[in-house]
Amino acid sequence: MKQSQLFTKTRREPPSDEVAKNAQLLIRAGYIHKEMAGVYAYLPLGLRVLNNVSRIIREEMNAIGGIEIQMTALQDKEKWVKSNRWDDAVVDVWFKTALKNDAQLGLGFTHDEALIDILKNYIASYKDLPRYIYQIQTKFRNELRSKSGIMRGREFLMKDLYSFTRTQQELDAFYEKVQRAYHNVFRRCGIGDSTYLTFSSGGTFSQFSHEFQTISDAGEDVIYVDQAKKIAVNKDVLNDEVLKGLGLTRSNLVEKKAIEVGNIFRQGTRFTDALGVYYADEKGERQSLYMGGYGIGVSRVVGTIVEVLADDKGLVWPKEVAPFAVHLIAIAGKSGEKVSAAADNLYADLEKAGVEVLYDDRDVSAGGKLADADLIGIPTRIVISEKTLEKDSVEVKERASGETKMVALSVAIDHFA
Ligand code: ATP
Ligand code: MG
Repeated sequence: MKQSQLFTKTRREPPSDEVAKNAQLLIRAGYIHKEMAGVYAYLPLGLRVLNNVSRIIREEMNAIGGIEIQMTALQDKEKWVKSNRWDDAVVDVWFKTALKNDAQLGLGFTHDEALIDILKNYIASYKDLPRYIYQIQTKFRNELRSKSGIMRGREFLMKDLYSFTRTQQELDAFYEKVQRAYHNVFRRCGIGDSTYLTFSSGGTFSQFSHEFQTISDAGEDVIYVDQAKKIAVNKDVLNDEVLKGLGLTRSNLVEKKAIEVGNIFRQGTRFTDALGVYYADEKGERQSLYMGGYGIGVSRVVGTIVEVLADDKGLVWPKEVAPFAVHLIAIAGKSGEKVSAAADNLYADLEKAGVEVLYDDRDVSAGGKLADADLIGIPTRIVISEKTLEKDSVEVKERASGETKMVALSVAIDHFA
C-alpha cells in the first residue's frame, strides 16, 4: 500500500484527553480514532493489527478443535432471566434497549446463555459431544471506568470459546489444551515472556479459574509471580492455604501490576442446567452437560502489545501482528527522479513477491518520514536514497533492535521474500 493513499495522518502531540499510553500512541500514529470515552474506531493500520491478532487466535482455536460461529449482539431478555443474569443488580455492565413494542433487549456483554440456547437444537445425545465452539465478536459493557484506552472498552472485540463435554474429566482435559493454545497465542503476539498463567477465584465448580496476566505498570490487576515456575496468583485469592495447595512459597513471589489478557473458566453445569440443556448417555439416561468458557480480549491484546513493547520513539510491532512487514521509504534529495524510480520498482517487486509493504511515497522531509516510521513501528524499515543508490543498495533497519545493514538492490527481493 502507498502511504499517500492512507487517509490517516500522524500527530506530533498526544491527544490531551487520553492518559493511557496505548491510546495515546495508537491515536498519534493514526491507528485508531476515539469516538467517545471507551469507544474506539479502527483505522486502516489499526484494523490490520486487530485482524492479525484475530487470525492468530483463530489458528490456535482451530488447532484444538474449535469451530467458529457468529452470534448476535442483540440479546433477548428471556434467556438471561432464566440464568438470573438479566437483573442490573447481578450484572452491572448491561447496555439495555427495547423494541417499539417495549420488549426488552440487551447488547451482549458475553454469550454463554445465547450459545446454550442455540445448542438446545443440536445436542441431544452423547454422540453429539464434545463440542468446542467460538466466535470473535464485539461485546458491549457499560464499564464504570475507561481510563485504560483500548484495554478497557465499552465496546470491544472478544474471542469467546465455549466447551461442552460429557464429563468433568473431559472438561479438565480440554481446559488444559486451551491453556497451551493460549500460551501459543500470547507468544505469537510478542507478549509471551511477560504473560503468566495466574490462579484466580474459581466460582462453583473448581477451586480456581485461570487468568492470563501480562506484567505491565499499566495493568489494573495485582498478581504475585513465581518467576522460576512461570506461574502467578491473583491478589484476590492469595492466602497461606492457597499457597500451600499450589506448592508456592510467599518469599519467592514478587508483586506485580498486570493486564488480564485472557481467562479460562469451568462453569460446569451451572448454566446448562439453568437453561435446561441435557444429553442422553449410552443408556438413554438424561445427563448434565459440562461447560467451560474461555475468553481473550482481542482489542485488549493489541493495547497490551503497545504497553509492553513500545519505546520512546513509538510503536514496536512483533512480526506476526504488524500491519505491514516492511516500511519502504524513499528519500529523494537532489536526484529525486532517480530515487523515486528505483523505489517505485522495488515497491512493485516486493508486492509481486508477496511481501506486505507500506511505501512512503509522500512529499515529506526525510526527517519527517523517518520519525513517522519509528512512530508507526513496522518491524523492518528500508530506506532508499541517493546515498544508498551510489552503492546500488538499500539501508535496512530493524525497528525493535535498531540493527542496521546495507543490502544490495540485486538481492533485496530474495532477502525480503
Ligand atoms: P476485567 O476483570 O478486566 O473486567 P473480566 O473478568 O470482566 O475482565 P471476562 O468477562 O472474562 O473479563 O472477559 C474475557 C476477556 O475479555 C478478559 O480476559 C479481557 O481480556 C477482555 N475484556 C474484558 N473486559 C474488557 C473491556 N472492557 N475491554 C476490553 N477487553 C475486555
Ligand atoms: Mg469486567
